[in-house]
Amino acid sequence: MKSQQTQGWQAKDHAHHLHPFTDPKALKQAGGRVITRADGVYIWDSQGNQILDGMAGLWCVNMGYGLRSIADVAAHQLLELPYYNSFFQCSHPPAIELAAEIAALAPPHMNKVFFTGSGSEANDTNLRLVRHYWDIQGKPEKKTIISRHNAYHGSTVAGASLGGMSGMHAQGDLPIPGIVHIAQPYWYGEGQGLSAEEFGIRCARELESKILELGEDKVAAFIAEPIQGAGGVIVPPDSYWPEIKKILAKYDILFILDEVITGFGRTGCYFAAEYYDLEPDLITIAKGMTSGYAPMGGVIVSDKVADALDKGGEFAHGYTYSGHPLSAAVALENLRLMKQENIVAKVAEETAPYLQQRLREVLAQHPLVGEVRGVGMVAALELVADKASHQRFAAELGVGTQCREHSIASGLVMRAVGDTMIIAPPLVITQAQIDELVTKAKQALDMTYASVRKSND
Ligand SMILES: *Cc1c(COP(=O)(O)O)cnc(C)c1O
Repeated sequence: MKSQQTQGWQAKDHAHHLHPFTDPKALKQAGGRVITRADGVYIWDSQGNQILDGMAGLWCVNMGYGLRSIADVAAHQLLELPYYNSFFQCSHPPAIELAAEIAALAPPHMNKVFFTGSGSEANDTNLRLVRHYWDIQGKPEKKTIISRHNAYHGSTVAGASLGGMSGMHAQGDLPIPGIVHIAQPYWYGEGQGLSAEEFGIRCARELESKILELGEDKVAAFIAEPIQGAGGVIVPPDSYWPEIKKILAKYDILFILDEVITGFGRTGCYFAAEYYDLEPDLITIAKGMTSGYAPMGGVIVSDKVADALDKGGEFAHGYTYSGHPLSAAVALENLRLMKQENIVAKVAEETAPYLQQRLREVLAQHPLVGEVRGVGMVAALELVADKASHQRFAAELGVGTQCREHSIASGLVMRAVGDTMIIAPPLVITQAQIDELVTKAKQALDMTYASVRKSND
């Protein structure tokens, strides 16, 4: 039974609140899930249900909910200096200290940060920044950016264009000109007949073919997520990044690594650049930098790009909230807590290996699960109709959506990307909580399997 309060909120919600990535008609029919509070790795809905947040919000609440010291720092900062901008040679202590702290965590050749309000804004910044860079170099023809199909780089016009989501491109005539897409390294789904290694090399070489097809003198940059997140946790074959690295070394183009999900510890390194031994020119950050306690994004800039900008005059770009003092203070406290808890080492050495091992031991044999994949504290369970042939369910069955609903009913948030179930819990999740997560995920799979079989009879 829904409480009157819940019913009232649901009615107001669909009457007045236009939601991102939501079908308004379906929302009206089903009624939204109203989340009212959270603590540690758990959220509570307006009906009083306690749910383990296996998605860390939207891949962002890395240090978990309910952290008193972040709330205290935020309250203090709001009273001390709630807002000032960083345009026209102005600055303030939280932005200064945060930029220095991020530079210390970033790869050694990256020492400056441009702040934004979100990951999407950061990728908009990247688009303008790489073109400005080549203008300064006297090569204004180098404009095209190469991305990948099924990439996610945000939802603004530039972000959605850089991304490779066909459903997003279909709305609003995207991508904008000057952005092209090559294959994603999705071996389980698209690599039939090839070994993972062969497929990884083949996908990587599409970068070289595309550079040669367009002409190196026309290409500004290559942008990629180390592991595609919203696309379904696509972990590239081991051969992929080393081959991309070889190709990038041969051609004079910039490399943008979108670490909005992988940044700040999710792979068991502060940045996946370290995990995969990559040397990007620009790193996109957001999400985990504040653990979601305040909105913030940014671009970490290499010395090479920063030195060029020194010769380029004013970069005519910026956001009112670039380096917002509240968000910056929150991010600083979040990073201080990460260090104090030694959380990145704990993820690398203890909890992430345990999560990956338990998911494989308990769920890989499940009749619905075609593949379990993942790195660090991010994983995917790909649901298929036939394990041997990788054959999928018909899309209209909505098996992934069913599984998500069964999962929430079992007390676990998993996200569905088509029929792929995504897991990306807060980095602070304990081994006991990982056991709970895996047990609930199995329950959700069992319930989904039962309903799929029933509808087959
Ligand atoms: C979430 C995400 C973005 C966009 O970040 P917003 O803060 O939602 O604008 C960009 N890139 C990747 C890889 C993401 O996962």
